[in-house]
Amino acid sequence: MAVLSRCSRAVTAATTPNAAAAKFSYLIRALSPFSSSSSSTFDADNGLNSRIKPAVLGTLKREPKDRNVQWVFLGCPGVGKGTYASRLSDLLGIPHIATGDLVRDELTSSGPLSSQLKEIVNQGKLVSDEIIIDLLSKRLEAGEAKGESGFILDGFPRTVRQAEILEGVTDIDLVINLKLREEALLAKCLGRRICSECGGNYNVACIDIKAENGKPGMYMAPLPPPPQCACKLITRADDTEEVVKQRLRIYQAMTLPVEDFYRSRGKLLEFDLPGGVRESWPKLLHALNLEDEEDKQSAAA
Ligand code: ADP
Repeated sequence: MAVLSRCSRAVTAATTPNAAAAKFSYLIRALSPFSSSSSSTFDADNGLNSRIKPAVLGTLKREPKDRNVQWVFLGCPGVGKGTYASRLSDLLGIPHIATGDLVRDELTSSGPLSSQLKEIVNQGKLVSDEIIIDLLSKRLEAGEAKGESGFILDGFPRTVRQAEILEGVTDIDLVINLKLREEALLAKCLGRRICSECGGNYNVACIDIKAENGKPGMYMAPLPPPPQCACKLITRADDTEEVVKQRLRIYQAMTLPVEDFYRSRGKLLEFDLPGGVRESWPKLLHALNLEDEEDKQSAAA
């Protein structure tokens, strides 16, 4: 399994850490508009968010030198956030936390939110900040109990409000903004396949954009599943043309401002994907000042 030893150079990509030591009270203030709609989220005695345990906040507030990296992946639906975040998670031994996965897990459970979430997600809309923060807090808490440190967030924050809340409780070291030509995004979403057993992400789309009007062409080979996953592939219910287009519209309206939020704080690393994974992965590692020894060896073999 890939671990830190695979990296021959240390990560130095963390940009200006947020100097302001944000206070827990900020989280309470930030979440307070939700308190009336969800009494269970708040501790009635002292107003503390009872879902985020002080121990978790203690972990989130650690100095960068005392914890693993805290990175965020931004990018349109279909850009490949999950693919690259999960590869980096393997390489660095840091948890990959995808809020979309948390939502889908909740949606397929028989919990009280299940049908409400199904309706929202299948229309391509965003889940409320209250629900998403609750799901994320629970995931962080479970990680804390297992001794996890650091994270690679994928799909969060998606609104400026979420970014403000996150900035208030912890220092994000780096935000990687993945970009891909618009023509490829829809095809990538429609070609996405997931292994129902291991959760692996694959893609059957073969994207071949011809050079036109001075714009270079782009080729992205399919990302086929390994034989053990091939017969277990499923398609996400929200990966239909209509819903993907709606998700892309919502990204422009709600998440594009999050890019500016981090850009203005000097934390945004823009990364234009030059093609498929084979071509993009080494370049992304280079941009992050990382090396994958295993990948180099297999390329040389
Ligand atoms: P995408 O391919 O659109 O990036 P995700 O797997 O990240 O898909 O998310 C799937 C769905 O889960 C979203 O369309 C949205 O309904 C919900 N979701 C995930 N993360 C968030 C978030 N941070 N805020 C609100 N809704 C979210």
